[in-house]
Amino acid sequence: MQNQTLQSKHWLDKVVEGIGKWQAKHDVKQLHVDDMKTPSGRVHTGALRGVLLHDLVAQVLRQQGFDPKNTYVFNDMDPMDGLPAYLDESVFAEHMGKPLYRIPKPDLEKCGIDLSQASESELEDLRQAKNFAEIYAFDFIHAFRSLGCSQEIVWSHELYESGAMDRQIRLALDSVAQMREIYQDVAKYTLPENWYPFQVICPACGKLGTTLVTDWDSQEVTFECQPNKVTWAKGCGHTGKISPFGGTGKLLWKVDWPAHWATMGVNVEGAGKDHSSAGGSRDMANAQCEQVFKITVPFNIPYEWILIRGAKMSSSKGVGTSAREFTKLFPPTVGRFLFASRNYEQVIDFDPQTMAIPDLFDEYDQGARIAWQVEAGDQRLARAFELSQIGQAQTESFLPRFRDVALWMQYPDKDLEEEFAKVKGSELNEVEKSLLKERVSYAQIWLDNYAPSEYQLRPKADFPEEAKNLSVEQKTFLLELKDLLLSQQALEPADLQQAIFDLSKNSLGPRKAFESIYLMLLGKKAGPRAAWLLRSTDQELLEKRFEEVGKL
Ligand SMILES: [Zn+2]
Repeated sequence: MQNQTLQSKHWLDKVVEGIGKWQAKHDVKQLHVDDMKTPSGRVHTGALRGVLLHDLVAQVLRQQGFDPKNTYVFNDMDPMDGLPAYLDESVFAEHMGKPLYRIPKPDLEKCGIDLSQASESELEDLRQAKNFAEIYAFDFIHAFRSLGCSQEIVWSHELYESGAMDRQIRLALDSVAQMREIYQDVAKYTLPENWYPFQVICPACGKLGTTLVTDWDSQEVTFECQPNKVTWAKGCGHTGKISPFGGTGKLLWKVDWPAHWATMGVNVEGAGKDHSSAGGSRDMANAQCEQVFKITVPFNIPYEWILIRGAKMSSSKGVGTSAREFTKLFPPTVGRFLFASRNYEQVIDFDPQTMAIPDLFDEYDQGARIAWQVEAGDQRLARAFELSQIGQAQTESFLPRFRDVALWMQYPDKDLEEEFAKVKGSELNEVEKSLLKERVSYAQIWLDNYAPSEYQLRPKADFPEEAKNLSVEQKTFLLELKDLLLSQQALEPADLQQAIFDLSKNSLGPRKAFESIYLMLLGKKAGPRAAWLLRSTDQELLEKRFEEVGKL
């Protein structure tokens, strides 16, 4: 990195440089990086952007000699205010409005999490989850831990119950006039006279979303559990007085956020663009830091979205909708690289059904080669590669190109290790062989779910559209081929290839003949060598396909 010029400085190094200057200016002793999330159901891929951003910032801070705390808060005191489509309404309707950590967890089989690729220890974690918030938080933690994120987990309800939030609760309630002014000045929001920034958990029905605090006498708050306060939950009508301390309730979300900063000592927390707009919740929080909680306004990193496109991504059961599923699309280092290589101000627009996945692998490989100094290029890519290493960093080795792996693995006659040895110019070593194996498994996921049709070289389950216009001669040839295959089952692929060639010469000629084989199986005019393709095709499928040709 010695030759790094200002222009080629990686964005994370710039962010950390900014934090360093900010720390000196505000005389901040201990840096504390944090991010938060309400675990109200299966966590979407979009939430990974914040987690990765904060973890990468903490990583670079550590590299540069800072010693930051790095936490992730689950806002499990938040009420359930919507029921995810995959959950059973008859089970969960009665829990609407309760704090998430007080709601029983759904059955593992009915929780909406795709468990097909979960490891045994992950499953065990999910089985151990004590409540609704935990099962979805654990699922999300697995996803971001797999990408090398090392945040310490904080459960908001524990902060409340331990009394750690009491000081901020008192400050917020005592400063209610000032709070109202902040809502008015910053968000242009006029609040009623009897408004307080606190909600209690109704001692009668256990709901929080339905309660309204109408008074505060320095010891207790007066509250009502209103039947019609919100549309998504029904209060029980109970009224009373209760101490607001020690976990009996929580601050309203816009106050809860800066109150956590004040309680935990957070001073670096980025916010998604939706929170960072003028007059938005970030501005509200900042004003409260200055006027109510009297703490330094945390360093902001207003970051952009990650958009996951494609039909499969938006369907409720599609691969890649949830953070868990997204992390299964690539090896962890390549997944982390996606976030390390994109500036936080840039939207990550990721459509797995294009060439986005192979392109990402290419970029990663390029970053690796620049980092290993075997190729010249943009140092920022090399830096992104370095920052995406998890545990032991990858040492210099030959990287089999992902798109070639995906394509060649569909050629039954190709030995992948031999093919890539040819590209490399020498035998693959053990590291390279296991890397190739890993890429084969991810290429399989890509081919099964996302790859564009030009990369699909496997026999189609349904009769291909493209084969519906086979000529009479081609049809005749294919039926002769069927007999040949039946009578010559013992032939080695090389001999079979010759036999097919001979057969074609006596009828419509090799070009048209081989084309008909590919059309029938792949819906394409070309493909892997025919004998190997036929031999590797499922026998039942092959018989069915010849039958379909016969009916044309
Ligand atoms: Zn109630």
